[in-house]
Amino acid sequence: MDPNPAELFPETVTDSDLRAFHRLVLLAAHADAIEILLAALADHLGVPSLSIASPDDPPPEPDTVLRIPLHYRERWLGDLCAPISDNQPRDDLADRLQFFSSAVALHLVMSTRLADQPGSTAVDDATRELREERDRLEAILEATNDAILLVDTHDLLVMATPQFESFTGISRYEILGLSVEQLAQRIDDHAGLPRALANVLRALSGNFTESLGGEFELVEPQPRVLVWYSLPVYVRSGVLLGRIFAFRDATRERELDRMKTDFISLVSHELRTPLTSVKGFSDLILESNLDRLDPDSREYLSIISFNADRLITLINDILDITRIDTDRIELKPEPCPAADIVDQAARALNSQLVQRGHRLSVDIPPDLPLVWADRARLVQIVTNLLSNAIKYTLKPGEIVVSARAVETPDDLPERAPRAQICPCVVISVRDTGIGIAPSHSHRLFQRFYRIETESSRGIGGTGLGLAIVKSLVELQGGRVWFESEPNLGSTFSFSIPIARNAPLAPY
Ligand code: ADP
Repeated sequence: MDPNPAELFPETVTDSDLRAFHRLVLLAAHADAIEILLAALADHLGVPSLSIASPDDPPPEPDTVLRIPLHYRERWLGDLCAPISDNQPRDDLADRLQFFSSAVALHLVMSTRLADQPGSTAVDDATRELREERDRLEAILEATNDAILLVDTHDLLVMATPQFESFTGISRYEILGLSVEQLAQRIDDHAGLPRALANVLRALSGNFTESLGGEFELVEPQPRVLVWYSLPVYVRSGVLLGRIFAFRDATRERELDRMKTDFISLVSHELRTPLTSVKGFSDLILESNLDRLDPDSREYLSIISFNADRLITLINDILDITRIDTDRIELKPEPCPAADIVDQAARALNSQLVQRGHRLSVDIPPDLPLVWADRARLVQIVTNLLSNAIKYTLKPGEIVVSARAVETPDDLPERAPRAQICPCVVISVRDTGIGIAPSHSHRLFQRFYRIETESSRGIGGTGLGLAIVKSLVELQGGRVWFESEPNLGSTFSFSIPIARNAPLAPY
C-alpha cells in the first residue's frame, strides 16, 4: 500500500510548503544563481533573508542565526542560515528549514561542480551527466528566438525560456512553478500585456488534445506582434509531458506585410481613377454616336470598354483582398431577404445570361427566414458565384439558385462542414458546366488559384473571386463549400446565419 503523503512529512509542513518545495526544485534545475532560490524561499518562509555558510566559515552567534546543515549524499556542503526573529518560533522555523534544505542542497549540486570532485561515485557521475545534458538543452533553448513555456499535467509552469522575460517583462524565476491561474493573474495585472494572452493560457491548460495558434499585440515592454502556437507534448514512450506554448516575434514581418498591403492598395486606387475615365468615355462615345461610327471604330471601342471592365473588376478584387487582410472591411449586417439578394445579382448579370443562352431558375420558398448579413456584400457573394456558373458553363445550360433554411447541423447538406452556426440559410448556385476535378478541391478557394484545362482555356478571370467569397462568407459567420462532377456541373453553396440569431453588436 502507498504511504499516506501526509505521513511522509513533519506535521508542521503545509500544502503550501509542498508547492513551494516543488517550485524550489524547478528553480534548482533552471536558475544558476543560488540567490534566486534563496530569495524565493525567504519570501515563502516570511524571513528577511537567507544565506549559505560554507564549511570553512567561522560559526556565527547561535542566538541570532539559525543554521541548518545541507547534505548531499552524506557530504556536508555548508549551512543554510536564517536570522532569528522574536515573532517566529525557533523550532517551527528550524523544522521548515530542515524540510527545504534538500532542495537547496540540490541546487548547490546542480549549479556548482561538487559532483566533479575527486573520489566521485557512479551516482556523482550520473548527476554530472544529467547536469551537462540539462546545460546543453538550456543553451539550445536560450539561443532560440522563440519564447517557450511548458505547463505540466498538474497545470504548473515547469519551464520558461529567457525570451519570455524579454517579450513580457516578467522574470521567469518569478513564475516558474506557479499554477497557470497564478501566471494568468500576473499577466492580467500587467497593463501593457494583452488580456488575450492570459485567456489563452487559462483556456488551453488542461487541454491535452488540441493544437492551436494565433497572434497577440503587446504594448509593453515594447510594442510587438507575437505569433503563438500551443500543442500537447509527449515523450517518446508516449507519456504526456504537458502543453507547450511557443511565442515568436513577428513584428517586423507584420510591418512589411502592412507596407506591402498599403502599397498595393494605393496603386490600385490610383489605377482605378484613370480606368474609370477610359471606361466612361468609351461607353459614352459608343452610346451617343452609335449610328455615326463605322463598324471598325465600334469594334475597337467595344474592346476598350470590355477590357476596362475586366481591369476595374481585377482592381476591385485586389482592393477587397487588401481590405480583408487589414481588417478594414466594413460590414453593416441587417436582416436581409435571400430572394431580393438573388434577384439583384441576377439582374446585374442578365445581359451575360442572355448572351450565353443560359436558363436561370430561382427556387426560394416564400416563408424563408431573413438572414443576418451585410446586404451589399451578400449581393457580391451571390454575383461572384453566379458569374462563375455563367462563365464555366460553355454551352447554353441550366443554372439554378436555391435557398433553404437549416435548423441544426444534422440537417445540413452532406458536403457541408459540420462546424457552423445554425439555424442558418444555405444558398446554392448549381450549373451544368465544365465541372471541377476532385484533385483541385483543396486549393480552389486559395487566392489566384485557377484551373487550366482544355475547356477552361481562354475564359478570363483572376482567381480571386472564390477567395473573396470565402472571406466574406466567413466574416459573416457562414461557411462555403462545393460539389462537382467534371463535365456534368458544379454546385457552390454557402451558409449565412438567420436574422433571429442576430448578434447585438456588428461583426
Ligand atoms: P476566376 O473565375 O476569376 O478564375 P475564381 O476564384 O472565381 O476565379 O475561381 C477559381 C477557379 O475555380 C476558376 O478559375 C475555375 O477554374 C474554377 N471554378 C470556379 N467556379 C466554377 C464553376 N462554377 N465551374 C467550374 N469551375 C469553376
